[in-house]
Amino acid sequence: MHDISDNPSIEADVIIIGAGFAGISAARELKQAGKTVAVLEARKRLGGRSLSRPIGDGKVVELGCEFHGQPDSISAVTGRSVGIEAHKVYDEGYRLIDDEGKLSRWKGAAPKVSPAALVDFGQAALRIERMRREVPQEAPWKAPHAVQWDSETIWSWTQRNIRTKGGRALMKLMIEAGMAASPSDVSLLHVLNYANGTGGFRAMTTVTGGTLENRFLGGSHGVVMRLAESVADETYVGAEVRRIEHTDDYVKVSGPGFMATGRRVVVTIPVPLAGRIEYDPVLPGYRDQLSQRLTMGSAIKYLALYDEPFWRAEGLTGQVISHSSPVRAVLDSCPPDGTPGVLTAFVTGSPARELARLSPGERRAWCWANSSASTARRPDSPTT
Ligand SMILES: Cc1cc2nc3c(=O)[nH]c(=O)nc-3n(C[C@H](O)[C@H](O)[C@H](O)COP(=O)(O)OP(=O)(O)OC[C@H]3O[C@@H](n4cnc5c(N)ncnc54)[C@H](O)[C@@H]3O)c2cc1C
Repeated sequence: MHDISDNPSIEADVIIIGAGFAGISAARELKQAGKTVAVLEARKRLGGRSLSRPIGDGKVVELGCEFHGQPDSISAVTGRSVGIEAHKVYDEGYRLIDDEGKLSRWKGAAPKVSPAALVDFGQAALRIERMRREVPQEAPWKAPHAVQWDSETIWSWTQRNIRTKGGRALMKLMIEAGMAASPSDVSLLHVLNYANGTGGFRAMTTVTGGTLENRFLGGSHGVVMRLAESVADETYVGAEVRRIEHTDDYVKVSGPGFMATGRRVVVTIPVPLAGRIEYDPVLPGYRDQLSQRLTMGSAIKYLALYDEPFWRAEGLTGQVISHSSPVRAVLDSCPPDGTPGVLTAFVTGSPARELARLSPGERRAWCWANSSASTARRPDSPTT
């Protein structure tokens, strides 16, 4: 891995922008196909939205992506391809649901809410299951009702199709916990396609049998770093791309103090960020409109570390969902041997936007207060 300031002028067949899972994977495949590549990464580190932090004894906590689904999922297959196996997320005991501060234990497919709400939500979930089967995963825009489903949010659909307050609250929780997004921020079509990617609507929020079942030994950042080994010499950090000049024959990719020239460019950064790059000539209108319309979601993940996973001794999984707290979902993220105790919590949508405006110290105090409130017992405070 090089610092771009030591290599301000680069040439390769293909220039790749971004060194997260997508950029590193693209670089590896192109190199295997015999092309020369150069990966340009704005940060001084690799991995993008995958990042681990060591907590001693060779253990890590994961600040970015962490959970994956079944052994045949792309994530699991990618991990195994570089010799990194997975371990199961702890899922023994009861889950908790927090309803206006009242904590109840539950097991099985759905929390204990009123039978009417459960039936209402169950019927809506079945309809979503039926609708998602009409959506081709690789080309969701080709679904027979794509235009209609993409023109409304899952929340407007919920309001028309779920009558009970409790049923609507369950749907809201499902989207917030499963997609880390507010239901009024995502289209119905996106939810259907997302559910196809996770192997079913309910799998989005399920540990055993769902997308939260597994974690990589040593963390997902270890996977991306292992993948990056074979393109380390072609990777440049500190290289924030600001401009792409392109013709049929060449591309010139540049940023502060550097220029990379190649025949093709692969842009792997999130679409809204790709829209900030200056293109010469400008991109076709339809592509430009795409980057104007896609937004980044608002989600904050935080981790609370305890000496022990006290919830396990109390017969709890560590999983909490909440209708009322801004902390919508909590999961057990302990290392494989169960020590220290680690709870991962998610705040999404408007509360995440509010929280992001606080100073780091205020945010930390808020997180401590709320992580205690959303677990079964109020520990004095997390250790970290
Ligand atoms: C908190 C959090 C938790 C998550 N949890 C999970 C999970 O449990 N399971 C799961 O499957 N997914 C999870 N995700 C999603 C997952 O992390 C992402 O889908 C995945 O990491 C995206 O990889 P990527 O390579 O497409 O993009 P990124 O990881 O975003 O990589 C893009 C890279 O491009 C760089 N870049 C940006 N702009 C420029 C520029 N102008 N020039 C050069 N470089 C640039 C960025 O610095 C970054 O390194 C989570 C995401 C977050 C944020």
